[in-house]
Amino acid sequence: MVDWKNPPRLFIPGPIQVKSDVLQELARPTLGHRDKEYAQLHGEVAEMLKKLLFTQQYVFLSTSSGSGLWEASIRNCVAPDETVLATCCGAFSDKWADVVKDCGRNVDVLKVEWGQATTPELIDAKLAGGKYAAITLIYNETSTGLMNPIYDIAKMMKAKYPDVLVFVDAVSGMIGQPVHFDELGWDVAFASVQKAFGLPPGFTVAAVSRRAVEKAKSVPAKGYYFNFIEWAKAAEKNQTLVTPSIPHIMGLHYQCTKLVNEGMENVWARHRAMGNFVRGWAKQKFELFCEERYASNTLTTIKNTRNINVGEVIKAVKQKHNTIFSAGYGQLKDKTFRVAHMGDITIEEVQELLGWIDEEIG
Ligand SMILES: *Cc1c(COP(=O)(O)O)cnc(C)c1O
Repeated sequence: MVDWKNPPRLFIPGPIQVKSDVLQELARPTLGHRDKEYAQLHGEVAEMLKKLLFTQQYVFLSTSSGSGLWEASIRNCVAPDETVLATCCGAFSDKWADVVKDCGRNVDVLKVEWGQATTPELIDAKLAGGKYAAITLIYNETSTGLMNPIYDIAKMMKAKYPDVLVFVDAVSGMIGQPVHFDELGWDVAFASVQKAFGLPPGFTVAAVSRRAVEKAKSVPAKGYYFNFIEWAKAAEKNQTLVTPSIPHIMGLHYQCTKLVNEGMENVWARHRAMGNFVRGWAKQKFELFCEERYASNTLTTIKNTRNINVGEVIKAVKQKHNTIFSAGYGQLKDKTFRVAHMGDITIEEVQELLGWIDEEIG
């Protein structure tokens, strides 16, 4: 019988395992969301997030999964007759392009093969040929384990297309990898907390530029729940528009405090060390799915060059150690597998897991 109260330890790229000290923080007595105590909690979390994301613009706390912000960025900041350039390099970025269409906006797609990066040159060539209000970008493609060269892209965008808004899905990248939001010139960047924040799923953090909120004023039919104008008004009072998931915000307070104390350079270095270790193992036993210079530091997608039965290995490790990692995503199901190394996962834990995989593959 499956026992959901004794679930496997998660090395899947979200949700990731949540340490028990973190879980405790979600069990505190609740607060009234219009009371001073809540405003203090909210204000402190927002201030810490601004430090972690290097921004002095808006930070919003959204009681939704990350996908909600796919929709929110479009519905708030793109007028119905405007066109978005959606850059696609895997399952999640593909999905966002669909969401742009679902929101009734015009979309042009810039697609590269899975495992390839979206480069500044490709974006430049596309933007030069049309009139675009915004682009969608994925920081870290969780299907292919690829980290796009966002700093190079930002440099090009600021030099050549300063008026095009930039929306970034940083769901599996934020915290584990640098986000200097203001310097990057981004307009919306978001991450669900079940990835590198190391919290349970169901909540999202977003940084939003002042010009994105300004733009929202002229866009009709934004809806209610994800309305940036209303969010900005509430945020100024250290509140949210509707009753938020206060336990998540308490958990975020705990996690952000740790991150601020550790220092982001150290946090990124810790993720890089885990990434390097897993890549070293992967290259020795298999191959990396994407080019090494674009490989993510929060998860690794490994090419199944030995043709192992991925499902069987996952099952065996689960049975013996009550621990799971991921098969490939969608079309990559048996061709790859994925190991997450982010949040509060330690390098020792990753080493242990890879050792267990070694025992299975011989
Ligand atoms: C996990 C993930 C999502 C989806 O996040 P939800 O919180 O499930 O909505 C979107 N984009 C990327 C890159 C992800 O890794």
